[in-house]
Amino acid sequence: MSFEENIRRVTPYTPGEQPVKKVIKLNTNECPYPPSPKVSDALKSMDTDALRLYSEVTCGTLTDALSSYYGVPKNRIFAGVGSDDVLSMCFLTFFAGKDPVLFPDITYSFYDVWASVYRIPYETIPLDDDFNIRPTDYHRRNGGVVIANPNAPTGVILSGELIEDVISHNKDSVVIVDEAYIDFGGESALPLIDRYDNLIVVRTMSKSRALAGMRIGYCFGNEKLIKYLNDVKYSVNSYTMNTPSLIAGAKAIEDDEYFKEITGRIIKTRETFSKSLRELGFTFRDSSANFVFAKPPVPFEALELFERLRERDIFVRHFKKPERISEYLRITIGTDEEMGELINALKEIMK
Ligand code: PMP
Repeated sequence: MSFEENIRRVTPYTPGEQPVKKVIKLNTNECPYPPSPKVSDALKSMDTDALRLYSEVTCGTLTDALSSYYGVPKNRIFAGVGSDDVLSMCFLTFFAGKDPVLFPDITYSFYDVWASVYRIPYETIPLDDDFNIRPTDYHRRNGGVVIANPNAPTGVILSGELIEDVISHNKDSVVIVDEAYIDFGGESALPLIDRYDNLIVVRTMSKSRALAGMRIGYCFGNEKLIKYLNDVKYSVNSYTMNTPSLIAGAKAIEDDEYFKEITGRIIKTRETFSKSLRELGFTFRDSSANFVFAKPPVPFEALELFERLRERDIFVRHFKKPERISEYLRITIGTDEEMGELINALKEIMK
């Protein structure tokens, strides 16, 4: 008998690289623009004496702002340390059954890690050859369903109607819709929380609100589900979010004008960049997110391009697994200048 036998072992999630030197960083779907000036004003004038006290256990400063912005009562909102924390708490809370939790084979690569670490049975459902989710694949007995919409890393959106089909055919399990990228395209499932008590809609401020470093995520759902989530949260770590994050998150939500401006710019850049990338022979589905997932033309290989770009201090993302996506590069949408530099680098590498 050794202590090794008592250790919870897991193969961890691999986050995208965070280089120390200055590079063109298009590998982790961050926002290329700074957060709202209202966020920086609030942080600069923050009363640091208040840091003596524990942060608000209810995250009320943030959930008040979210409640008035989205028109959703506070008891239907849960907040956490990035949507990774929110999703992790959701897995722990809602997936305690015996039937397998279902999610696509190509999706956010953290889902199977949470399932493994919490000992949750799961099954992955293959996307079709064009990377679409087929809702009917989810019309079967299960312990829960998780859909990222738009999906990551494909950027492909499932219509509101088809998302509702998945939710309505799974009334006996909790369906999580991870909308990390919804502010860049597609129809949100948020209004459906009024009609389906098995639905959780997860959001983040890391992408469209330019606050990845603040770690702010939240979700919406029926008040009963939110209570269950809070019960688990208070049983693990009650003071999850720190005081500066609560203030920054509230300010970011209040500045709708700035939010619309930067998301609009990113969408515009995505469209021009997609056109240039197609002109170089890359193939890919139209993206509804702040990245594109593209396959280089023959004879170029994704891994080789990834490495050649890296030598030029341009970071994009390449996934070796699953096999089906190893021929693709996931490229975050940066500024017009950054995307121009990437296109020029690709032209040189591929000439
Ligand atoms: N969901 C999806 C689909 C993502 O791509 C990410 C970003 N890695 C997250 C959730 C987590 O983002 P965060 O924890 O920064 O909110």
